[in-house]
Amino acid sequence: MSAPTLSVVRLVAPNPGPLTGPGTNTFVVGDPTGCIVIDPGCADAAHLDAIDLATQALGGIQAIVVTHAHPDHIGGAAELAERTGAPVLALHRGPSGVSFAAHEMADDDEIMAGGQSLIVLATPGHRFDHLCLWHEASGILFAGDLVAGSGTVVIIPPEGDMRAYLASLARLQALPLTRIWPGHGAAIDDPQARLADYIAHRLQREAQVIDALRSAGGPQTVEELVPVVYADTDPRMYSWAAKSLLAHLLKLEAEGRVRRLTPDDAGPWANL
Ligand SMILES: [Zn+2]
Repeated sequence: MSAPTLSVVRLVAPNPGPLTGPGTNTFVVGDPTGCIVIDPGCADAAHLDAIDLATQALGGIQAIVVTHAHPDHIGGAAELAERTGAPVLALHRGPSGVSFAAHEMADDDEIMAGGQSLIVLATPGHRFDHLCLWHEASGILFAGDLVAGSGTVVIIPPEGDMRAYLASLARLQALPLTRIWPGHGAAIDDPQARLADYIAHRLQREAQVIDALRSAGGPQTVEELVPVVYADTDPRMYSWAAKSLLAHLLKLEAEGRVRRLTPDDAGPWANL
């Protein structure tokens, strides 16, 4: 008899919105001997019932893993833990992490889901406590919010960090991926092409920031830069774009390529 393969059940949480797309993907992952739940998403009773049923069909829940502490990922985790007795696993506990996590994991830790081995990849950037789960046997990666099913993800400093984000994407490029399951949206079956696109997109934005500072002929604030750098973006998204733009400026500052003229992030910035 051959060993069981990985079963993946995707349940979309009923929390759609501008930043969550169709809703958060909750995954029940394992084989007939047991499973884990990735990102319960929200505490909606019908969603938790559906998770419960799916875990029972896969040999029973062994753990709840949250990819990072954003509310649309940890939502429902405490309730599911209470209901099932399964421990919540996260990269960081405490006030800025997942306060109710039973265990703090580390990079390269192994989590068993039935007979399936999943490896924790610490992948900061979208948030400092972000992790992906890597099922090496199939090449499937559960990417949380490092990659989205469509569009890009928001990087909000100080919890988000553009340098770390690009380093995490580069780390994924080194893996023999067959499929990425993102935290929002559909499966990505051309993982390397998508990762290359993501990196190219961020580097293009970065070049646009440098260009915008150069052509303005003087220091510019984030507020002044947003409509120039994000001319291709719906103005209703500008408040989010401003956060990503600041993330780019902080990366460029760390690399010695731009400088701030006041201590305040909201003050003017200039090219070096
Ligand atoms: Zn997130």
